[in-house]
Amino acid sequence: MSETIAFIGLGAMGLPMASNLVRKNFSVIGFDLDQGKLDKLVALGARPAGDVTAAVRDATVVITMLPAPPQVREVILGGAGVLAGLRPGSLVIDMSTVDPQTTDTVAAACLEKGIAFVDAPVGRLVSHAERGESLFMVGASDAGFARAEPMLNAMGTTVHRCGPEGAGTRMKIVNNYLAVIGAQLTAEAILLGTKLGLPVDVMKAVSGGTTATNGQFQINFATKVLKGDTAPGFTIDLAHKDLMLALTAAAQQRLGLPVGLAAAGALGAARGGAYAQRDFSALLDYACDIAGV
Ligand code: NAD
Repeated sequence: MSETIAFIGLGAMGLPMASNLVRKNFSVIGFDLDQGKLDKLVALGARPAGDVTAAVRDATVVITMLPAPPQVREVILGGAGVLAGLRPGSLVIDMSTVDPQTTDTVAAACLEKGIAFVDAPVGRLVSHAERGESLFMVGASDAGFARAEPMLNAMGTTVHRCGPEGAGTRMKIVNNYLAVIGAQLTAEAILLGTKLGLPVDVMKAVSGGTTATNGQFQINFATKVLKGDTAPGFTIDLAHKDLMLALTAAAQQRLGLPVGLAAAGALGAARGGAYAQRDFSALLDYACDIAGV
């Protein structure tokens, strides 16, 4: 089936992902509140839309890549939102990182209208998205998964089906719990090593060869903050959001997660300052700033 895709949310992740769909000859209609981002996608061959209603009018598939739960609810469920205009038999794929309740509410609203729903939040970095090497954590029915898979394969190299609708969102929260705390831990370790007189290259080589190795030091920090690049990427603001999604989910399960709570304090402080819109590897710069290093 030849799909017409409305892609809504063309930010740090959405723009490179939608660009890969266009490059791989999918028919894409783009929309973002930021006209400059939309213009970049249109320059590659996508059709522009002026609002959500116009974006979904001719679409058979809607992909959303939005910051957080409020935007996802507004864009999909709102009065002038996706479900107000999309035809039955269509498919909605939400790739945003949100809480399970938002995904479950949106999924139920789609299914009630005869529209299939797939949650497919994304792992890895912006640089992976640019190369079409993203990882997807997918919650879907058999039919929803079969329909979404060619589009996911056009944007990524790794697709994990985690279970039915909602399972992708739940997996993403768990994944980013590890990733975000790993970033904070890596910042603190590099700060400590620096104070103890160790060169960063030595720390990277040694920790890369032991069980201490992690994607934060070896991939994320190595390609971003340690090269002096703290442009997002994945902002500290969004990393803090994801950590709070995990801690809220944990509280709902009556779980106490002490390391997570401590990391939330650190990220909250970094986010409160001038760091909110910097890449989350800049947690290192923040840790150094407050340590006076
Ligand atoms: P971003 O802030 O760069 O982009 C979000 C885009 O959505 C912006 O361009 C914004 O203008 C647009 N937008 C907001 N409200 C809108 C609305 N009502 N209608 C249309 N467009 C709207 O965020 P991002 O870094 O691309 O992240 C998007 C999602 O992906 C988040 O949930 C994030 O947690 C997740 N994620 C990010 C990364 C990363 O490395 N940046 C990696 C994996 C997952």
